[in-house]
Amino acid sequence: MTNEFAHRISGRLSDCQADNSFRLTAEARALKASGADIAWMMLGEPDFDTPWNIIDRAKLAMDDGWTHYTHSAGIDSLRERYAEYVNREYGVRRIKKENIVIQPGGSMISYLACVTLIDPGDEAIIFDPTFPVYEQGIRMMGGVPVHVPLDEKIAWRFDYDRLEKAVTDKTKAIFINSPQNPTGGVFTKEDIAFVAELARMHGIYVFSDEIYNRFVYEGQHASILHVPDFLEQTILLDGHSKTYAMTGWRLAFSVSSVEVAERFADLMTLINCNTAPFTQWAGDEALHGDQSESEKMIAEFELRRNHIYSGLKKIDGISLVKPAGAFYAFVNVEKFTTGSNRTARELQRILLHDYHVAVLPGPIFGRYCENYIRLSFAADREMITKGVERLSEAFSELC
Ligand code: PMP
Repeated sequence: MTNEFAHRISGRLSDCQADNSFRLTAEARALKASGADIAWMMLGEPDFDTPWNIIDRAKLAMDDGWTHYTHSAGIDSLRERYAEYVNREYGVRRIKKENIVIQPGGSMISYLACVTLIDPGDEAIIFDPTFPVYEQGIRMMGGVPVHVPLDEKIAWRFDYDRLEKAVTDKTKAIFINSPQNPTGGVFTKEDIAFVAELARMHGIYVFSDEIYNRFVYEGQHASILHVPDFLEQTILLDGHSKTYAMTGWRLAFSVSSVEVAERFADLMTLINCNTAPFTQWAGDEALHGDQSESEKMIAEFELRRNHIYSGLKKIDGISLVKPAGAFYAFVNVEKFTTGSNRTARELQRILLHDYHVAVLPGPIFGRYCENYIRLSFAADREMITKGVERLSEAFSELC
Protein backbone atom coordinates (compact mmCIF):
# COMPACT_ATOMS: atom_id res chain seq x y z
CA MET A 1 0.00 0.00 0.00
CA THR A 2 1.39 3.42 -0.85
CA ASN A 3 1.51 6.03 1.85
CA GLU A 4 -0.51 8.98 0.57
CA PHE A 5 1.30 11.33 2.92
CA ALA A 6 4.80 10.40 1.82
CA HIS A 7 4.84 13.13 -0.83
CA ARG A 8 4.32 15.70 1.91
CA ILE A 9 7.65 14.91 3.55
CA SER A 10 9.91 17.96 3.19
CA GLY A 11 11.30 18.38 -0.32
CA ARG A 12 14.64 19.20 1.28
CA LEU A 13 15.00 15.54 2.11
CA SER A 14 14.43 14.30 -1.43
CA ASP A 15 17.97 15.37 -2.23
CA CYS A 16 19.45 13.79 0.85
CA GLN A 17 20.79 10.28 0.45
CA ALA A 18 21.61 8.86 3.83
CA ASP A 19 25.14 7.50 3.86
CA ASN A 20 25.04 4.82 1.16
CA SER A 21 27.87 2.91 2.78
CA PHE A 22 25.49 1.84 5.55
CA ARG A 23 23.03 0.47 2.96
CA LEU A 24 25.70 -1.51 1.18
CA THR A 25 27.02 -2.74 4.50
CA ALA A 26 23.56 -4.08 5.36
CA GLU A 27 23.61 -6.07 2.08
CA ALA A 28 26.99 -7.58 2.94
CA ARG A 29 25.94 -8.31 6.51
CA ALA A 30 22.88 -10.19 5.22
CA LEU A 31 25.14 -12.37 3.07
CA LYS A 32 27.38 -12.99 6.07
CA ALA A 33 24.37 -13.87 8.22
CA SER A 34 23.35 -16.46 5.61
CA GLY A 35 26.61 -18.27 6.37
CA ALA A 36 29.00 -16.90 3.73
CA ASP A 37 32.62 -16.45 4.85
CA ILE A 38 33.17 -12.81 3.93
CA ALA A 39 36.53 -11.02 3.92
CA TRP A 40 35.31 -7.86 5.62
CA MET A 41 37.00 -4.66 4.49
CA MET A 42 34.06 -2.37 4.38
CA LEU A 43 33.60 -0.09 7.37
CA GLY A 44 35.73 2.66 8.85
CA GLU A 45 35.48 1.34 12.35
CA PRO A 46 38.40 0.09 14.47
CA ASP A 47 37.93 -3.61 15.22
CA PHE A 48 39.49 -3.12 18.69
CA ASP A 49 37.57 -2.91 21.95
CA THR A 50 37.33 0.41 23.77
CA PRO A 51 40.11 0.34 26.41
CA TRP A 52 38.95 -0.70 29.89
CA ASN A 53 40.04 2.46 31.69
CA ILE A 54 37.59 4.40 29.49
CA ILE A 55 34.73 1.97 30.11
CA ASP A 56 35.41 2.02 33.86
CA ARG A 57 35.34 5.82 33.91
CA ALA A 58 31.88 5.82 32.31
CA LYS A 59 30.63 3.35 34.94
CA LEU A 60 32.06 5.45 37.74
CA ALA A 61 30.41 8.57 36.33
CA MET A 62 27.06 6.76 36.29
CA ASP A 63 27.58 5.62 39.88
CA ASP A 64 28.36 9.23 40.76
CA GLY A 65 25.01 10.35 39.36
CA TRP A 66 26.11 11.79 36.01
CA THR A 67 22.88 10.69 34.38
CA HIS A 68 21.09 14.02 33.82
CA TYR A 69 21.14 16.92 31.38
CA THR A 70 24.33 18.95 31.20
CA HIS A 71 25.09 22.31 29.63
CA SER A 72 24.50 21.86 25.91
CA ALA A 73 28.15 22.68 25.09
CA GLY A 74 29.36 20.06 27.56
CA ILE A 75 30.17 19.80 31.27
CA ASP A 76 31.94 23.03 32.15
CA SER A 77 34.98 21.51 33.88
CA LEU A 78 35.37 19.00 31.04
CA ARG A 79 35.32 21.65 28.34
CA GLU A 80 38.27 23.12 30.17
CA ARG A 81 40.05 19.76 30.18
CA TYR A 82 39.24 19.03 26.52
CA ALA A 83 40.73 22.48 25.73
CA GLU A 84 43.88 21.53 27.68
CA TYR A 85 44.07 18.36 25.62
CA VAL A 86 43.78 20.27 22.34
CA ASN A 87 46.57 22.64 23.37
CA ARG A 88 48.83 19.72 24.26
CA GLU A 89 47.94 17.43 21.35
CA TYR A 90 48.11 20.09 18.64
CA GLY A 91 50.99 22.02 20.22
CA VAL A 92 49.06 25.28 20.54
CA ARG A 93 48.30 27.47 23.54
CA ARG A 94 45.33 29.62 22.87
CA ILE A 95 42.37 27.18 23.02
CA LYS A 96 40.02 27.86 25.92
CA LYS A 97 36.94 26.07 27.14
CA GLU A 98 34.74 28.62 25.33
CA ASN A 99 36.15 27.32 22.03
CA ILE A 100 35.14 23.73 22.73
CA VAL A 101 31.76 22.06 22.22
CA ILE A 102 31.45 18.40 23.18
CA GLN A 103 29.12 16.71 20.70
CA PRO A 104 27.64 13.28 20.08
CA GLY A 105 29.90 12.32 17.18
CA GLY A 106 31.85 13.92 14.40
CA SER A 107 29.02 13.57 11.90
CA MET A 108 26.96 15.84 14.15
CA ILE A 109 29.74 18.44 14.07
CA SER A 110 29.91 18.51 10.29
CA TYR A 111 26.13 18.77 10.07
CA LEU A 112 25.99 21.61 12.62
CA ALA A 113 28.79 23.35 10.72
CA CYS A 114 26.62 23.27 7.61
CA VAL A 115 23.59 24.62 9.54
CA THR A 116 25.78 27.35 11.02
CA LEU A 117 27.58 28.45 7.85
CA ILE A 118 25.49 27.71 4.79
CA ASP A 119 22.62 29.85 3.52
CA PRO A 120 20.66 28.88 0.39
CA GLY A 121 22.75 29.59 -2.69
CA ASP A 122 26.07 29.65 -0.82
CA GLU A 123 28.86 27.61 -2.33
CA ALA A 124 31.07 25.32 -0.29
CA ILE A 125 34.19 23.67 -1.67
CA ILE A 126 34.76 20.01 -0.97
CA PHE A 127 37.66 17.92 -2.17
CA ASP A 128 36.70 14.86 -4.17
CA PRO A 129 37.06 11.99 -3.16
CA THR A 130 35.32 13.16 0.00
CA PHE A 131 33.79 11.85 3.19
CA PRO A 132 30.16 12.00 1.96
CA VAL A 133 28.41 13.68 4.88
CA TYR A 134 29.79 17.15 4.06
CA GLU A 135 28.12 17.19 0.66
CA GLN A 136 24.80 16.01 2.07
CA GLY A 137 24.88 18.63 4.83
CA ILE A 138 25.64 21.44 2.35
CA ARG A 139 22.80 20.35 0.08
CA MET A 140 20.34 20.10 2.96
CA MET A 141 20.96 23.78 3.70
CA GLY A 142 20.29 24.72 0.08
CA GLY A 143 23.99 25.24 -0.55
CA VAL A 144 25.97 24.24 -3.61
CA PRO A 145 28.85 21.80 -3.14
CA VAL A 146 31.72 22.64 -5.49
CA HIS A 147 33.95 19.63 -6.10
CA VAL A 148 37.70 20.12 -6.44
CA PRO A 149 39.47 16.90 -7.42
CA LEU A 150 42.21 15.35 -5.36
CA ASP A 151 44.92 13.92 -7.53
CA GLU A 152 46.19 10.38 -7.15
CA LYS A 153 49.37 11.34 -9.02
CA ILE A 154 50.37 13.68 -6.21
CA ALA A 155 49.42 11.29 -3.39
CA TRP A 156 45.84 12.55 -3.11
CA ARG A 157 46.77 16.19 -2.67
CA PHE A 158 45.36 18.97 -4.85
CA ASP A 159 46.29 21.44 -7.55
CA TYR A 160 46.58 24.90 -5.96
CA ASP A 161 45.43 26.74 -9.11
CA ARG A 162 42.38 24.58 -9.40
CA LEU A 163 41.37 25.30 -5.81
CA GLU A 164 41.94 29.01 -6.30
CA LYS A 165 39.78 29.01 -9.44
CA ALA A 166 36.95 27.26 -7.60
CA VAL A 167 36.56 30.20 -5.21
CA THR A 168 33.83 32.69 -6.15
CA ASP A 169 32.14 35.53 -4.31
CA LYS A 170 29.55 33.00 -3.16
CA THR A 171 32.06 30.67 -1.47
CA LYS A 172 31.33 30.40 2.22
CA ALA A 173 33.48 27.50 3.31
CA ILE A 174 36.16 25.03 2.29
CA PHE A 175 35.86 21.55 3.79
CA ILE A 176 39.12 19.71 4.29
CA ASN A 177 39.86 16.30 5.76
CA SER A 178 43.39 15.14 6.47
CA PRO A 179 44.29 12.31 6.94
CA GLN A 180 41.59 11.48 4.47
CA ASN A 181 38.73 9.09 4.25
CA PRO A 182 38.60 7.40 1.70
CA THR A 183 42.03 7.85 0.10
CA GLY A 184 44.44 7.60 3.05
CA GLY A 185 46.05 10.78 1.69
CA VAL A 186 47.60 13.36 3.99
CA PHE A 187 47.88 17.10 3.31
CA THR A 188 51.23 18.77 3.91
CA LYS A 189 51.84 21.84 6.03
CA GLU A 190 52.09 23.83 2.77
CA ASP A 191 48.70 22.53 1.58
CA ILE A 192 47.04 23.60 4.83
CA ALA A 193 48.79 26.97 4.73
CA PHE A 194 47.61 27.48 1.13
CA VAL A 195 43.99 26.71 2.00
CA ALA A 196 44.16 29.04 5.02
CA GLU A 197 45.70 31.93 3.08
CA LEU A 198 43.13 31.60 0.32
CA ALA A 199 40.37 31.52 2.93
CA ARG A 200 41.85 34.54 4.69
CA MET A 201 41.98 36.52 1.44
CA HIS A 202 38.35 35.79 0.61
CA GLY A 203 36.80 35.73 4.10
CA ILE A 204 35.94 32.03 3.89
CA TYR A 205 35.58 29.54 6.73
CA VAL A 206 37.68 26.38 6.80
CA PHE A 207 36.05 23.27 8.21
CA SER A 208 38.88 20.88 9.02
CA ASP A 209 38.04 17.28 9.84
CA GLU A 210 41.06 15.91 11.67
CA ILE A 211 39.45 12.84 13.22
CA TYR A 212 42.35 10.69 11.94
CA ASN A 213 45.03 13.05 13.31
CA ARG A 214 46.90 10.28 15.13
CA PHE A 215 46.76 7.89 12.17
CA VAL A 216 49.70 9.34 10.26
CA TYR A 217 52.29 6.82 9.07
CA GLU A 218 54.52 9.15 7.04
CA GLY A 219 55.67 12.51 8.40
CA GLN A 220 53.70 14.65 10.83
CA HIS A 221 50.08 15.68 11.09
CA ALA A 222 49.57 19.23 9.80
CA SER A 223 46.62 20.91 11.49
CA ILE A 224 44.61 24.01 10.65
CA LEU A 225 45.19 24.97 14.31
CA HIS A 226 48.86 25.48 13.46
CA VAL A 227 47.97 28.44 11.22
CA PRO A 228 48.59 31.63 13.24
CA ASP A 229 45.64 33.97 13.91
CA PHE A 230 43.15 31.84 12.06
CA LEU A 231 40.84 30.50 14.77
CA GLU A 232 38.06 32.95 13.88
CA GLN A 233 37.68 31.26 10.49
CA THR A 234 38.26 27.70 11.70
CA ILE A 235 35.95 24.87 12.68
CA LEU A 236 37.97 21.82 13.68
CA LEU A 237 36.43 18.39 14.12
CA ASP A 238 38.22 15.94 16.39
CA GLY A 239 36.74 12.92 18.10
CA HIS A 240 37.13 9.69 19.97
CA SER A 241 35.64 7.19 17.49
CA LYS A 242 38.86 6.25 15.74
CA THR A 243 41.68 7.07 18.17
CA TYR A 244 40.09 5.22 21.08
CA ALA A 245 37.88 2.70 19.22
CA MET A 246 34.77 4.46 20.54
CA THR A 247 32.49 4.55 17.49
CA GLY A 248 29.43 3.39 19.44
CA TRP A 249 29.80 5.93 22.21
CA ARG A 250 28.98 8.87 19.95
CA LEU A 251 31.53 11.37 21.13
CA ALA A 252 33.53 14.11 19.45
CA PHE A 253 34.35 17.77 20.00
CA SER A 254 34.64 20.90 17.93
CA VAL A 255 37.18 23.69 18.24
CA SER A 256 36.05 27.03 16.86
CA SER A 257 35.64 30.70 17.60
CA VAL A 258 33.49 31.50 20.64
CA GLU A 259 30.75 32.84 18.34
CA VAL A 260 30.49 29.59 16.37
CA ALA A 261 30.70 27.55 19.59
CA GLU A 262 27.75 29.51 20.98
CA ARG A 263 25.71 28.75 17.84
CA PHE A 264 26.64 25.09 18.14
CA ALA A 265 25.49 25.07 21.77
CA ASP A 266 22.16 26.67 20.76
CA LEU A 267 21.69 24.08 18.03
CA MET A 268 22.55 21.27 20.42
CA THR A 269 19.82 22.55 22.76
CA LEU A 270 17.41 22.30 19.89
CA ILE A 271 18.44 18.96 18.48
CA ASN A 272 20.01 16.85 21.18
CA CYS A 273 20.24 18.84 24.45
CA ASN A 274 23.69 17.49 25.24
CA THR A 275 26.10 14.61 24.88
CA ALA A 276 25.50 11.90 27.52
CA PRO A 277 27.43 13.04 30.62
CA PHE A 278 28.97 9.66 31.47
CA THR A 279 30.20 9.53 27.87
CA GLN A 280 31.76 12.97 28.28
CA TRP A 281 33.60 11.68 31.38
CA ALA A 282 34.73 8.55 29.54
CA GLY A 283 36.01 10.85 26.81
CA ASP A 284 37.99 12.80 29.38
CA GLU A 285 39.65 9.61 30.58
CA ALA A 286 40.43 8.75 26.95
CA LEU A 287 42.13 12.10 26.36
CA HIS A 288 44.02 12.36 29.66
CA GLY A 289 44.40 8.77 30.85
CA ASP A 290 46.71 5.94 29.83
CA GLN A 291 47.38 6.11 26.07
CA SER A 292 49.07 2.73 25.71
CA GLU A 293 46.09 0.83 24.26
CA SER A 294 45.47 3.53 21.67
CA GLU A 295 49.18 3.64 20.80
CA LYS A 296 49.28 -0.14 20.39
CA MET A 297 46.22 -0.04 18.16
CA ILE A 298 47.68 2.67 15.93
CA ALA A 299 51.01 0.80 15.68
CA GLU A 300 49.04 -2.27 14.56
CA PHE A 301 47.25 -0.15 11.95
CA GLU A 302 50.61 0.82 10.51
CA LEU A 303 51.58 -2.86 10.21
CA ARG A 304 48.27 -3.56 8.50
CA ARG A 305 48.85 -0.66 6.15
CA ASN A 306 52.21 -2.16 5.14
CA HIS A 307 50.64 -5.60 4.82
CA ILE A 308 47.72 -4.55 2.62
CA TYR A 309 49.91 -2.33 0.47
CA SER A 310 52.49 -5.01 -0.26
CA GLY A 311 49.72 -7.53 -1.01
CA LEU A 312 47.78 -5.25 -3.36
CA LYS A 313 50.93 -4.09 -5.18
CA LYS A 314 51.45 -7.64 -6.42
CA ILE A 315 48.08 -7.80 -8.18
CA ASP A 316 48.22 -7.12 -11.91
CA GLY A 317 45.85 -4.58 -13.42
CA ILE A 318 45.21 -2.47 -10.30
CA SER A 319 47.22 0.28 -8.62
CA LEU A 320 47.18 2.33 -5.48
CA VAL A 321 48.98 5.10 -3.67
CA LYS A 322 50.47 3.89 -0.40
CA PRO A 323 48.11 5.26 2.26
CA ALA A 324 50.03 7.80 4.35
CA GLY A 325 47.31 8.00 6.99
CA ALA A 326 43.85 6.90 8.19
CA PHE A 327 42.98 3.24 7.54
CA TYR A 328 41.84 3.02 3.95
CA ALA A 329 43.33 1.94 0.64
CA PHE A 330 41.68 3.61 -2.35
CA VAL A 331 42.45 1.28 -5.20
CA ASN A 332 42.43 2.23 -8.88
CA VAL A 333 40.51 -0.52 -10.68
CA GLU A 334 39.94 1.33 -13.96
CA LYS A 335 40.79 -1.73 -16.04
CA PHE A 336 37.85 -3.56 -14.45
CA THR A 337 35.35 -0.66 -14.36
CA THR A 338 35.26 1.86 -17.21
CA GLY A 339 37.91 -0.22 -18.98
CA SER A 340 35.49 -3.18 -19.04
CA ASN A 341 32.21 -1.34 -19.37
CA ARG A 342 31.28 -1.97 -15.81
CA THR A 343 30.34 0.46 -13.03
CA ALA A 344 32.19 0.47 -9.73
CA ARG A 345 28.96 -0.62 -8.06
CA GLU A 346 28.73 -3.62 -10.42
CA LEU A 347 32.32 -4.53 -9.65
CA GLN A 348 31.68 -4.19 -5.91
CA ARG A 349 28.67 -6.52 -6.21
CA ILE A 350 30.71 -9.11 -8.13
CA LEU A 351 33.48 -8.95 -5.53
CA LEU A 352 30.94 -9.42 -2.76
CA HIS A 353 28.78 -12.15 -4.25
CA ASP A 354 31.26 -14.12 -6.37
CA TYR A 355 34.47 -13.66 -4.37
CA HIS A 356 33.13 -12.86 -0.90
CA VAL A 357 35.16 -9.70 -0.39
CA ALA A 358 33.24 -6.76 1.09
CA VAL A 359 34.54 -3.37 -0.11
CA LEU A 360 32.89 -0.05 -0.98
CA PRO A 361 32.50 1.28 -4.53
CA GLY A 362 34.28 4.60 -5.24
CA PRO A 363 31.29 6.71 -6.30
CA ILE A 364 29.99 6.81 -2.72
CA PHE A 365 32.88 9.22 -2.18
CA GLY A 366 32.39 11.61 -5.07
CA ARG A 367 31.87 12.20 -8.73
CA TYR A 368 35.48 11.52 -9.74
CA CYS A 369 35.58 8.08 -8.16
CA GLU A 370 34.04 5.73 -10.75
CA ASN A 371 37.30 3.83 -11.19
CA TYR A 372 38.03 3.10 -7.55
CA ILE A 373 37.10 0.83 -4.69
CA ARG A 374 37.77 1.54 -1.03
CA LEU A 375 39.23 -1.11 1.22
CA SER A 376 39.23 -0.51 4.95
CA PHE A 377 42.11 -2.08 6.82
CA ALA A 378 40.27 -1.84 10.12
CA ALA A 379 40.44 -5.62 9.96
CA ASP A 380 43.03 -8.00 11.39
CA ARG A 381 45.98 -9.14 9.29
CA GLU A 382 44.52 -12.58 8.72
CA MET A 383 41.37 -11.00 7.30
CA ILE A 384 43.48 -8.68 5.14
CA THR A 385 45.47 -11.66 3.79
CA LYS A 386 42.24 -13.44 2.94
CA GLY A 387 40.77 -10.34 1.29
CA VAL A 388 43.89 -9.67 -0.78
CA GLU A 389 44.06 -13.32 -1.94
CA ARG A 390 40.47 -13.18 -3.08
CA LEU A 391 41.00 -9.88 -4.86
CA SER A 392 44.02 -11.38 -6.56
CA GLU A 393 41.90 -14.28 -7.76
CA ALA A 394 39.08 -11.95 -8.84
CA PHE A 395 41.35 -9.66 -10.87
CA SER A 396 43.07 -12.57 -12.55
CA GLU A 397 39.70 -13.96 -13.68
CA LEU A 398 37.74 -10.80 -14.48
CA CYS A 399 38.30 -8.79 -17.58
N1 PMP B 1 34.95 12.28 9.63
C1 PMP B 1 35.49 11.28 8.92
C2 PMP B 1 36.49 11.61 7.86
C3 PMP B 1 35.10 9.96 9.15
O1 PMP B 1 35.64 8.97 8.42
C4 PMP B 1 34.13 9.69 10.15
C5 PMP B 1 33.66 8.28 10.43
N2 PMP B 1 33.59 7.43 9.38
C6 PMP B 1 33.61 10.78 10.86
C7 PMP B 1 34.04 12.06 10.58
C8 PMP B 1 32.53 10.63 11.88
O2 PMP B 1 32.86 9.91 12.98
P1 PMP B 1 31.93 9.87 14.26
O3 PMP B 1 30.60 10.42 13.89
O4 PMP B 1 31.88 8.43 14.67
O5 PMP B 1 32.62 10.74 15.28
